[in-house]
Amino acid sequence: MEKIERMHWLYGIDKGRRCCDCSRLEIFRVGGRRVCKCQIYGVGRGAATDWSPNWEACGMRNRSYAGVEIQTLEPAQTEQAVKTEDTPAP
Ligand code: SF4
Repeated sequence: MEKIERMHWLYGIDKGRRCCDCSRLEIFRVGGRRVCKCQIYGVGRGAATDWSPNWEACGMRNRSYAGVEIQTLEPAQTEQAVKTEDTPAP
C-alpha cells in the first residue's frame, strides 16, 4: 500500500482538497530542493517519507493528531486498526 493510500484507507479522502492545503504538511529546503513531509504519516530523513503536495488530501487535513506516526504501523496493523474501528461494540 502506498503512503497516501494508507492515509486514505485510514482517514478517508477530503475530496477537492490537496495536501498543499493542509497545515500538517511540512516543507523543508534540502540542498536548494523543496521537500515536503506529512507530520501525521511521519517525518524521516529519507525519501521514504517524502510527500507530494499535489496528492489528494486525506480526512485528517488541518486536524490535530496525537497518535503514533502512521509510517511506524505495518500495513497489516493499519488494516486491522480500521477493521477494529469499524466493528460495532457488542
Ligand atoms: S494529514 Fe494533511 S498532509 Fe497528511 S495526508 Fe492528510 S491531508 Fe495530506
